[in-house]
Amino acid sequence: MPQILVVGGGYAGFYTAWKLEKHLRKGEAEVTIVDPLPYMTYQPFLPEVAAGEIEGRHVVVGLRRHLKRTNVVNAKVTKIDHANKVATITPAQGEPWEHRYDQIVVTAGAVSRTFPIPGIADNAIGLKTVEEAMAIRDRILTNFDRAANLPAGPERDRLLTVVVVGGGFAGIEVFAELRAMASSLLKSYPQLRFEDTHFHLIEAMGRIMPEVSLETSQWVLKDLAKKGANVHLDTQVQGAEGGNVALSTGEVIPTDVIIWTAGVMANPTVVRGSDLPVEERGRIRTRADLRVGTPEEIVEGAWAAGDISAVPDLTGGGVGGYCVPNAQHAVRQAKLLAKNLVAVLRGETPREYFHKNLGAVAGLGLGNGVFQSGKIAIKGFFAWVAHRGYHGLAMPSWERKWRVVGDWWMNFWLGRDNVALQGTLTPRAAFEEFAARPRPAQPAAENPQPPIDPKSVAKDEGAAAVAPAEKDNKVDAN
Ligand SMILES: Cc1cc2nc3c(=O)[nH]c(=O)nc-3n(C[C@H](O)[C@H](O)[C@H](O)COP(=O)(O)OP(=O)(O)OC[C@H]3O[C@@H](n4cnc5c(N)ncnc54)[C@H](O)[C@@H]3O)c2cc1C
Repeated sequence: MPQILVVGGGYAGFYTAWKLEKHLRKGEAEVTIVDPLPYMTYQPFLPEVAAGEIEGRHVVVGLRRHLKRTNVVNAKVTKIDHANKVATITPAQGEPWEHRYDQIVVTAGAVSRTFPIPGIADNAIGLKTVEEAMAIRDRILTNFDRAANLPAGPERDRLLTVVVVGGGFAGIEVFAELRAMASSLLKSYPQLRFEDTHFHLIEAMGRIMPEVSLETSQWVLKDLAKKGANVHLDTQVQGAEGGNVALSTGEVIPTDVIIWTAGVMANPTVVRGSDLPVEERGRIRTRADLRVGTPEEIVEGAWAAGDISAVPDLTGGGVGGYCVPNAQHAVRQAKLLAKNLVAVLRGETPREYFHKNLGAVAGLGLGNGVFQSGKIAIKGFFAWVAHRGYHGLAMPSWERKWRVVGDWWMNFWLGRDNVALQGTLTPRAAFEEFAARPRPAQPAAENPQPPIDPKSVAKDEGAAAVAPAEKDNKVDAN
């Protein structure tokens, strides 16, 4: 049976495997998906997870639950030797092994792209994973709890200051969502006032959200300013050390939360570890039919889709002639890729990918959003409804849709769930604090005991079975 290996079970990988299960006949091919994570993450919901609008666990889709006919392997692909059609799979524990395949689908996505700015690698957090989104939420909620115990002053200000770097879609969404969350939190903290909370977004360009028109982006800027959030355009971060963010304008912002959303780059582990062709921006060179290669040359048996690939945008709308890295493309490319792969296995001709951008929709906090499609722009409440409607429907599987919609429904009636579970970062701390430990071993007696008579040991076996340290333990525990 031909072996199909899918590298990465995110948006594109999950959909590829899901659709292959649908299109492949029984016994036609065996599919294996490899991802270090046991789930695919619906990244467009991460800003709402960070703001406590959706429970973190609900925005991920379990691979084993939803891929019933696919072999799921939780490990990393660290090398692709396509010349010999062998991939190296490296698990978190145990030895790496080699996996032979006939067809490979590379969908290992992108990672946060940073620059060598002092302090960013050590002090900032990205927004690509559900763990990051949940950590941001817990950190901000915990900081509110701590700030409420402090007198007004620089330390309290620092705890109540959030800095987001990058004014693209993800940055603006998380910034607006967090501002809205902080404003709603104030009701529960009589010690804190609105003026005590500070939100700064740093953008190197002269505008935000390149995906929408200039006019719409300016509306977003005004709306954020009305809500007490500062956007610094034409400004770069120059340092993030010692609890301060230093800006190119000379301003210094003391803060405890730095969220980095200034761009992504194709997964370097997978790209550099493979012998597949790569274009100038580090993505896998992919044809419009989603096979790896160029229009002139096909790399037989290799496919790519999603953020790791440079797929030509045949509508003429993409940046540099390629599809932009977003979920809209990733999901559609994956669906076509599955069909094309099956077509090639059956000796048929694959189709070319053609998708005209549907537009962009962003949530900007409860009841607020923007939507842009061509010249049509909707702002405010109806755009927010469109945002929830679109993403609610786009969430893969009914099982997951219900959980997300259930969270929205609950929050509508019961309000945001504003409790920090910061202790999940150190879950053993409470147990460890009171846990009894064996006493340090006693120094050996100066006069050694006479040798033990084996007969007397046999008689006293029950008593001798309790080691001295265990006896001590029992006493301590009482
Ligand atoms: C905050 C945020 C908001 C967004 N909002 C929108 C939006 O509103 N609309 C939109 O269209 N797009 C949006 N996007 C972009 C969209 O989510 C991505 O374009 C999409 O997830 C790309 O899918 P992918 O499958 O290429 O990569 P991913 O979904 O990132 O999946 C990559 C997978 O590869 C796995 N992997 C990594 N390394 C390895 C390895 N060595 N071996 C095996 N597997 C590996 C990862 O664990 C991951 O599961 C948003 C992104 C973010 C971060």
